[in-house]
Amino acid sequence: MTKQTHSFQAEVKQILHLVTHSLYSNKEIFLRELVSNASDACDKLRFEALDHPQLFEDAPTLEVRVSFDEAARTVTISDNGIGMSAEEAIAHLGTIAKSGTREFMANLEGDQKKDANLIGQFGVGFYSGFIVADRITVESRRAGLPADQAVRWTSEGTGDYEVETITKAGRGTDVILHLREGEEEFLKTWRLKSIISKYSDHISLPILMRKEEWKPEEAKSELTDEWEAVNKASALWARAKSEVTEEQYNEFYKQISYDTEAPLAYTHNRVEGRSEYTQLLYIPKKAPFDLWNRDKRGGVKLYVKRVFIMDDAEALMPVYLRFVKGVIDSADLPLNVSRELLQESRDVKAIREGSTKRVLSMLEALADNENAAEKQKYADFWKDFGSVLKEGIGEDHANQERLAKLFRFASTHADEGVSLADYVSRAKEGQETIYYITADSLAAAKNSPQLEIFRKKGIEVLLLTDRVDEWMLSHLYEFEGKPLQSVAKGALDLDKMQDEEEKKKAEEAAEANKPLLDRLKASLKERAKDVRVSTRLVDSPACIVVEEGDMSGHLARLLKQAGQ
Ligand code: ADP
Ligand code: MG
Repeated sequence: MTKQTHSFQAEVKQILHLVTHSLYSNKEIFLRELVSNASDACDKLRFEALDHPQLFEDAPTLEVRVSFDEAARTVTISDNGIGMSAEEAIAHLGTIAKSGTREFMANLEGDQKKDANLIGQFGVGFYSGFIVADRITVESRRAGLPADQAVRWTSEGTGDYEVETITKAGRGTDVILHLREGEEEFLKTWRLKSIISKYSDHISLPILMRKEEWKPEEAKSELTDEWEAVNKASALWARAKSEVTEEQYNEFYKQISYDTEAPLAYTHNRVEGRSEYTQLLYIPKKAPFDLWNRDKRGGVKLYVKRVFIMDDAEALMPVYLRFVKGVIDSADLPLNVSRELLQESRDVKAIREGSTKRVLSMLEALADNENAAEKQKYADFWKDFGSVLKEGIGEDHANQERLAKLFRFASTHADEGVSLADYVSRAKEGQETIYYITADSLAAAKNSPQLEIFRKKGIEVLLLTDRVDEWMLSHLYEFEGKPLQSVAKGALDLDKMQDEEEKKKAEEAAEANKPLLDRLKASLKERAKDVRVSTRLVDSPACIVVEEGDMSGHLARLLKQAGQ
């Protein structure tokens, strides 16, 4: 193919403009992004080579090299990974395939702190090269293609880019950054080394740089032809806990999650027994923007004996824990495991169960902590993730009990943070039921006439206003042997707590008002099953109740809204 000029997709132009202008204060991240692409490319090759070992050609050792040329003012990131064909270079470097670009841009345009981590999250990391470079040349050969079918892609990061066919002996990709005026700081070994160890230490491939040698006669160092690894090149999760600092754990989390903040909690364990694996799992502090998308990719990466197998391995975590990030490295699974196989594997089932328990333990440790700061952490977590955790009640029967204990609600006692255990501990003498009311808002719940009798008797009622609450209640019937019951349903078993005098009054009232009740019943024939004297109201004249086992009024309204 002779030289062709292509125009960037419109979104790419916008992204380029935003990235180069808003992320300047954090410009060193370009190296993290390009090294991470190089490492991804090696992972992809290793994965494809499982079925096609000839892709390794004669270079089975995967590695990333970072070098610079002072005279030419270039920094080059090379890998011998999967590489790109010309078509792939056009598709991957000229358009943005991922959704969420709009959110990304809104984020950069907004007033919030310019969020350098977002760049990786939205799959636009490559373009960060243009923060420091006014021209990028990519030379790449797809593994398996002949040497004369390599591609050169060049762009100044403005409107368009050029592609042409070249010859490239080695497989993989060289990304050559032609530095902008003023970016000479990146033409130094120590500077590049320190960025690599800050962001890329955990990358499990060696990242090589040329060794420097001190030349006393010239009183300066010179680059030699010898390459040395500048990262630890051992996967973080494979190291002993005692060898990893909290800061390293946090930095690793930020890399895999693209979160800007440290995680809320993490757990790192080597599990032995029937199934052998290492888990490093994190709970984020804040919900990502796409938490509500149940189809979204999960956050757990699967490795088998340190070999990257796949991102977003849903089978490793239940859907309701989709916010958990981390790595699971199995010692038992075959390297060529497919998504389909994962779904059926007994080892995976054991991993999922074990990992779910770990996550619940982390949450329990926060929730039950006596320390106020830890408790507050849990309250904040609940605000962001509570609704998702509630999904677990229907999804994960084995852990229902533990999940229910983690739930927090509003009640007539407190506007937030009420656990079912709190409720039970405060229950009245003889109260065998956990009462709740569902409504669209806290105000609506609080003002419901249904609550009058409970207020009068000082009985606590849970105020459930979350959209998933009705659904949750269809799976959560009881807690510690006490049934959950809507205050709007059926005959209230408040009787036991009623004194004799009240009972008598109610009976008398029913007797005295029989003619009225009959008339009401007759005129409401089509619309009400029954009309009766109730003890549940104190101030309001009447209220509608739902028969035991019928749909609640709130649920009926929700379903109607949803067009059912
Ligand atoms: P992401 O890495 O999230 O996909 P990037 O903007 O960093 O987004 O990269 C875009 C795409 O370009 C990658 O998905 C990949 O297909 C391709 N790419 C980038 N760098 C390389 C590389 N070194 N080797 C092979 N492909 C690459
Ligand atoms: Mg990337």
